[in-house]
Amino acid sequence: MNNKTERLIELGNQAGIDLEVNQSELLIGYMERLLEMNKKINLTRITDEEEFIKLHLLDSLTLLKLIENKNATILDVGTGGGFPGIPLAILLENAEITLMDSTKKKLNVVQAIAEELKINNIKILHGRAEELGQNDNYREKYQIVTSRAVANLTLLSEYCLPLTQVGGHFLSMKGRDYQEELLAAEKPIDILGAKLLKVEPGLLLQNDYLHVIINMKKIKATPKQFPRLNGKIKKEVFP
Ligand code: SAM
Repeated sequence: MNNKTERLIELGNQAGIDLEVNQSELLIGYMERLLEMNKKINLTRITDEEEFIKLHLLDSLTLLKLIENKNATILDVGTGGGFPGIPLAILLENAEITLMDSTKKKLNVVQAIAEELKINNIKILHGRAEELGQNDNYREKYQIVTSRAVANLTLLSEYCLPLTQVGGHFLSMKGRDYQEELLAAEKPIDILGAKLLKVEPGLLLQNDYLHVIINMKKIKATPKQFPRLNGKIKKEVFP
């Protein structure tokens, strides 16, 4: 076990996230390869390893406490460099994690690293959430949908809730000043067929939470007109 692997386990312990040695090694292996690739293609602005461990790896893993079904079908919308999807795939070996993004070259890198590290429980899905949400192959097919740093909560709810199964959850990671966004998204969330369950604290860093996790449950089917295409979502206010 090297220093980075030990450090991740130690910081995980402090954050209440138990990591086995092989899980920590895989997470560190992913970090090292992603940072190497980051020199050629822009995947993350976080290049310091200690920061990466906290702000990417552990932050992503805070979602675990909200995922009861460890075999769930999970979709990570706007995964970018694979967050939170890849750390979840490493910890939830029996879950099937689909990593979706509109940028193919990012997905190619994530897929190549995952193959190299034999992270086999992931699928790659290239496309825009608002288009895939109108495709019957993906619409209401996922038990858990996750998203971090992709859009404001109203827009994100229209991206993610149509893809969430009825009875499933949409877990949105948001900054601490989420209240205004949540207030604006209340009516859209209701129209899209979900209800807000709880806002959970995420990773505690220097006495403050990095993110909160907004936990919504899908309680009825999303009306067919949603999601609207991106131009309409952005231009027209929610009906
Ligand atoms: N979730 C990652 C994280 O937290 O590190 C990446 C965040 S990055 C700031 C936002 C990502 O969302 C980008 O990779 C972008 O291509 C993707 N994205 C933005 N809008 C999208 C959409 N409508 N459908 C799919 N992906 C989208």
